[in-house]
Amino acid sequence: PRPRVRPDLDGLPLFRGRAAEGGMIGLDCNESPFAPPVAVSDAISAAAGELNRYPDNAAIDLTARLAERYGVSPANLTLGAGSVGLCVQLIQIACAAGDEVIIPWRSFEVYPAIARTAGAVVRRVPLTPEHTLDLPAMAAAISDRTRLVFVCSPNNPTGSAVSRAEVERFLGVVPSDVLVVLDEAYAEFTTGDADPLDGFGLVRDRLRQGRTNAVALRTFSKAYGLAGLRVGYCLSAVPVAELLGRVAVPYAVATLAQRAAVAALDCEEEVRGRCRHLVGERERVRTALLDAGWDVPVSGANFLWLPIGSAAESFAAHCRERRILVKAFPGEGVRVTVGADAENDALLAAAGQFAQVGA
Ligand code: PMP
Repeated sequence: PRPRVRPDLDGLPLFRGRAAEGGMIGLDCNESPFAPPVAVSDAISAAAGELNRYPDNAAIDLTARLAERYGVSPANLTLGAGSVGLCVQLIQIACAAGDEVIIPWRSFEVYPAIARTAGAVVRRVPLTPEHTLDLPAMAAAISDRTRLVFVCSPNNPTGSAVSRAEVERFLGVVPSDVLVVLDEAYAEFTTGDADPLDGFGLVRDRLRQGRTNAVALRTFSKAYGLAGLRVGYCLSAVPVAELLGRVAVPYAVATLAQRAAVAALDCEEEVRGRCRHLVGERERVRTALLDAGWDVPVSGANFLWLPIGSAAESFAAHCRERRILVKAFPGEGVRVTVGADAENDALLAAAGQFAQVGA
């Protein structure tokens, strides 16, 4: 006999993440290929002697720095164990069993899993044929039971970004008691858009108008290259931030993570330069793939989406034989992270040797 646990958890997918595999080129997790700046490693070393103490649960320094950066009050900011930790907290404060969560699909695979963990019902709204969020259809899917909507831009895994005007139109029709989460994990890689979302700016402007149902999420995992430390942050109305604090795991953001994030904010120019480089690499890889006949949607993120349908798994296996890890979505496509230059060259070589383009 096993302990009496929730029967509704049967059938939930088990998130395994990546198993460490030596010697592979990891283009499957949307990580930064760059080691953290030296100043970040130094801050981590300097904090090591304090690890007998609990972290600052209010993360005063990091919160103050972020507040200054975004022109908001520290009371509007919540730190979490990665932005995914904050996604879990947002579901917890919004949803009880039977409530509905609306997500675009395909999108970040963790959304449906954490919604179901809370007992919520997941409504998936298909992307447009161009692989972008269908915000009008998402608005139309809202019912009396809807408590939360995830808007992921740029969208993982398709890379498509929605504009600020589109999201403003969407927010204009969403009932004001439905929480809308603007997940901008990859925002720093969106460049050159005529009307970029800038969810942090949008939420800040709405808060000034007393409109409290939209929140925005960012992370140190992607552009800042600190995926191993697990720091994300949320901009919200103060009452929402207070609720997020109530459901938080105590001391969830470790001391090393807080110090490293502050040090990373001090390296803004270096981080921006790295992002620019990755964006350049993304466009180089995309152009080469397009020239070779692949369909590759425009991406505003540090990855590209290859909508190759039934060839997804065979392409991933083909890459693995060449010691390259990519992320296959069986029957739909493959997501390829933009890595270091030589890693991208290896990916392009592998793609060039793959016979069934467009199969
Ligand atoms: N949101 C999106 C859209 C993501 O793709 C990811 C990471 N893959 C996250 C959130 C979570 O990032 P983290 O928890 O590392 O901040």
